[in-house]
Amino acid sequence: MTSNQPSICFFNTLTRKKEVFIPLVPSKVKIYTCGPTVYDYAHIGNFRAFLFEDLLKRWLVYQGFKVTHVMNLTDIDDKTIKGSQKQGIALAQFTDFYIKAFFEDIKVLNIQPADVYPKATDHIPEMVQLIKTLIAKCIAYKGEDGSIYFSVCKFPDYGKLSHIKVSELKAGARVCQDEYCKEEAQDFALWKAWTLEDGDVFWETELGKGRPGWHIECSAMSSKYLGETFDIHCGGVDNMFPHHENEIAQSEGATGKKFVNYWMHNEHLQVEGKKMSKRFGNFYTLRDLLAKGYDPIAIRYLLMSTHYRQQFNFTFEGLEAAKAAVERLRNFVRRLHEVEGTTSTGKVATLMAKLEAGFGGSMDDDLNIGIALSSLFDFVREINSMLDANIVSKDEAAEVGGLMMRLDEVLGVIGKLEVEEALPSDIDALVQKREEARKAKNWKEADTIRAQLKAMGIVLEDTAQGVRWHKEKA
Ligand code: AMP
Ligand code: ZN
Repeated sequence: MTSNQPSICFFNTLTRKKEVFIPLVPSKVKIYTCGPTVYDYAHIGNFRAFLFEDLLKRWLVYQGFKVTHVMNLTDIDDKTIKGSQKQGIALAQFTDFYIKAFFEDIKVLNIQPADVYPKATDHIPEMVQLIKTLIAKCIAYKGEDGSIYFSVCKFPDYGKLSHIKVSELKAGARVCQDEYCKEEAQDFALWKAWTLEDGDVFWETELGKGRPGWHIECSAMSSKYLGETFDIHCGGVDNMFPHHENEIAQSEGATGKKFVNYWMHNEHLQVEGKKMSKRFGNFYTLRDLLAKGYDPIAIRYLLMSTHYRQQFNFTFEGLEAAKAAVERLRNFVRRLHEVEGTTSTGKVATLMAKLEAGFGGSMDDDLNIGIALSSLFDFVREINSMLDANIVSKDEAAEVGGLMMRLDEVLGVIGKLEVEEALPSDIDALVQKREEARKAKNWKEADTIRAQLKAMGIVLEDTAQGVRWHKEKA
């Protein structure tokens, strides 16, 4: 680490410890994150994972790192094949639909795109090559069913990520499905020989007619785009076993080198104490919530504002609170634009320095977003009361606005706000009318006019300085 690199700590699942982050190449970070299985719309639990990864990336960029991010698209597995067969369409046509939906969703959530989104089906030759290497090293073998399996007992480090006890492995037992649980740990399929159930989904390769298992794609594609050893690998905790354990076995078995330096896993988004999952039917897609009228940025805020290693329950009350928090930040920034005063106490600079230290220190500590956000809201409260007292100068307000925008490079929730411009005369007349009703303490009429304006997309806010307005965000 060079002296000008910040000291960031991450909890490394591999060691179960918080460690200082030291990239392989100073100032550069290579990240691989397991992407969506494109057999349906992603649910907001999946987006919790993608938003944690977005926050990680944004923080590293904020701290001056050049980040290269690869996210795979799993467009071939048991579920995508089943889904395409059910609809009676070709696999690619089926998965392309959900890939497009995924890209639409991440844009709406203001998730910064990865540098590469490799599809598994575009990398069959790379996977075949990797499996051939494992066969040549006698770590993989062909079963009687024609499929090729990874021989877990030939890889002494098996279990180092998930801490599964290899002694619990059933000798010679094999599993062909992509997903299985710890209790079933056994030799897993790298290449699956074609069966009737696969229909027209197969590749004729040197390994025979068939298709890849799920795990091999991430080993093959990460090394293609990031090298045999890279810095950070992320995914949800459910991916730790068997998926990531198997990725390590495949990659390190083939190269003899360390696959990944830092493994980072996000905890689950839950519903009433149970993982949000397609399997349990307890999920919301982003689209479900948008259809109920929620602002996607409130959803973004909700999903990223709990520390990534903490479980939390999705609730509509939580979503309302997230919406209010985002509005609070946006209103604060709007208010800063209106400051015209010249009085300054010098306290603003001190508060700004305190915020930068508090926010930065917390984020450097394994992305402790909860503490970072409470520093931010303390700051907003303190500056707001100084604004009420008219002791913030226009220049200071501009400085504060600049800091808010810099921090929003990390949070991605404020965005570009339109500052108040001249209102069309009919709307202006309504705002004036409501002011008069308020002065006359005619609350009923004031509320009716507020609702009328809201229907026209104008949101009012009553402040100590009088009424302020802004256009409602779509
Ligand atoms: P999948 O599309 O199932 O391959 O999952 C994509 C990502 O979402 C993976 O990193 C999963 O670990 C993660 N994930 C799945 N369900 C949840 C959940 N309820 N909460 C947080 N992350 C999840
Ligand atoms: Zn993966």
